[in-house]
Amino acid sequence: MIDLEKNLFFGVQHTLAQEFELFGPGLMTGEICSVRVKPLPEDSGIIFVVDGEEVKLSQSTTYPGFHNLTLRGPTYDVIYIEHLLSVFFAFGVDNALVEIEGREIPFFDGSSLIFSERMLQVGLRPQNSLRKYAIVVEPLEMSDGSGYIKVEPYHEFFVHAVYQRKATREEFVFTEKTFYPDEIAPARTFIYESDLKNAISVGLFRGGDVDSAIVFSDESDTPLNTELRFQNERVRHKILDFLGDIYSFGIRILGKFYIVNQSHKLVREFLKSLKYEVL
Ligand SMILES: [Zn+2]
Repeated sequence: MIDLEKNLFFGVQHTLAQEFELFGPGLMTGEICSVRVKPLPEDSGIIFVVDGEEVKLSQSTTYPGFHNLTLRGPTYDVIYIEHLLSVFFAFGVDNALVEIEGREIPFFDGSSLIFSERMLQVGLRPQNSLRKYAIVVEPLEMSDGSGYIKVEPYHEFFVHAVYQRKATREEFVFTEKTFYPDEIAPARTFIYESDLKNAISVGLFRGGDVDSAIVFSDESDTPLNTELRFQNERVRHKILDFLGDIYSFGIRILGKFYIVNQSHKLVREFLKSLKYEVL
């Protein structure tokens, strides 16, 4: 049996104590997009307002897009929702309204630092209902050739992440004691020089500039445009993305995860096969 007394995430639901708003260029289009995040009553969940209509966060309203997690809007989709969701997961935001203007969540420096800083400023408000959890009841593993995910039943949320490429091996263990604003939020998106050139040649990343991501040399595996914020910044960003991806499940998952080079697509396939009980 799971001892919920020992689970630090266990407790009442939370929303934001105040609202906040951010705007900036979208990475894909370069157009200015804005996001306004507001408190909501208990048991509301995360609700996006896109093009004047409400879309509740769930597996059926989101899908893995091209290197991003995408929200299915009524008339158009919104890309890059994963970094904001990652912050909601880490801070324990159960209920929030997210009003979006534009077709992307602003990308900023490719990390979730600015969202995390705003959350620290506005703070959280406890609510009257208890949180619900999806508790993993059977081990599961899945691979797609380049990535791997495994989960085992566990009474907390725990992730052991690995990033591997040629001779590089980065590791990070995320637990409920990890201080996300300092240890995960600053970790930026990364891309390899050859992939970036290919993407730009077909018209992608029109809103990108030298500060939107870390560009790594294919050969030397070192950053070309910036200094690293952490020696293992890539695996920290993989955790940042993973937290956002699994929060699209719509309910918090308790389990012990082991992830290697996972993509948004692999996480989605994995969640479809997950065996769990709701508590
Ligand atoms: Zn990311």
